[in-house]
Amino acid sequence: MQRHASSSLLAIVVSLGLATPQKPAHGDACPWCKNDPALMKAAGVVSHGPIAIGPKGSQALAAELPAGTWIFLETAHLRWAFSLGSEPVDLPEKKRVRAELARLKKILPTVPTDAAKLDPWLRLHLLGMKGEELYARFQAILQVKDEDFPESRRSDGPFMGDGRFLGEKDKFEVVVHASREMHRGFTTDFSGVTVNDSFRWHFKQEHKLLVSIPAEDADLRHDRWLFPHVAHNLSHAFLCAYKHFSYDPPVWIDEGLAHVVEKEIDPASVTIDGGEGATRETHTPSDWTDGVRKIVARGKPTTLAELMHLKEFGELDTDAHLVTWSMVRFLLEEHPDALARILGGVKGQLDADGRPSGKDLPDLERKLLQETGGWTPQSFDEDWRKWAARRPG
Ligand SMILES: [Zn+2]
Repeated sequence: MQRHASSSLLAIVVSLGLATPQKPAHGDACPWCKNDPALMKAAGVVSHGPIAIGPKGSQALAAELPAGTWIFLETAHLRWAFSLGSEPVDLPEKKRVRAELARLKKILPTVPTDAAKLDPWLRLHLLGMKGEELYARFQAILQVKDEDFPESRRSDGPFMGDGRFLGEKDKFEVVVHASREMHRGFTTDFSGVTVNDSFRWHFKQEHKLLVSIPAEDADLRHDRWLFPHVAHNLSHAFLCAYKHFSYDPPVWIDEGLAHVVEKEIDPASVTIDGGEGATRETHTPSDWTDGVRKIVARGKPTTLAELMHLKEFGELDTDAHLVTWSMVRFLLEEHPDALARILGGVKGQLDADGRPSGKDLPDLERKLLQETGGWTPQSFDEDWRKWAARRPG
């Protein structure tokens, strides 16, 4: 997350109200959980809204949203605002959608086993379920659980940030816009900058992170591409939040982990972070395992020592994106405890006065590599290259 320096008191929900998206064809109540408290509870739904999204003080405005434009879902760790319409389930998507519906049906028995079309509420319920699955996966990678995060920072015990949501005080928020224009208006109001692509923001006073997605393009409008792209962005938000967002995590491990998380959901999905936000990308090799093998075979791949000193996502070229993914994949598959300790270490550095500090991160990374795997950056490169050259798939 490069843009996080300030938060704003502007009531951003206003811009949601002013925008004019396609009106999803649905009524006021969710046809699947029917606002039935017992059904909602079993389905992990805390609220169907309207929910205030963004800065504090916007609760009253949430009620002014045009009925039927936005629908909402709050689960244990995430809040969603969604403005897309229905989606037909095309033949190639049938298998994936059936599997997702089967998982949802376990917690929400009213949903169909098969569907020719997903209405907005069902799409949102599926996103809500997958969002919580992703949160659980991320916690498994970090090797943490909810109980590890106290309400506020404690004077005793390990430093875990300043709140229950990986170290932030409030839940993660995802806003899915039907148009780029809505996304731009929404994000500019609270951030002061204008971005075309997916955007992440840390609300300092509210202690929470938000992801805004312009789901206008032919691909991102569809659930198949939308969710892995959201997951890439949420991976960045989760890692930033981990032990509280006080400084930017190292670029290579932040982007590598986001690629790992995205590709676990759909190996064909690629999101690249750049100056205009995060965008879906279709020009990299379709098979990253094979792509990395070729990079290694050509000799002189980007080294970890080089990657450790990058300051911006924009400094990663295509090969470097593949290499960050592969290095984090290597750690996750071969040394999962080392990965968890490195992530915990780089996110939880404290200075002599006990304040979070992002000072000399490459130095800290070198220490962590040594402690967890006996690696220098050079010996890490050697181990990783050997692994990448023979990894099947
Ligand atoms: Zn519902």
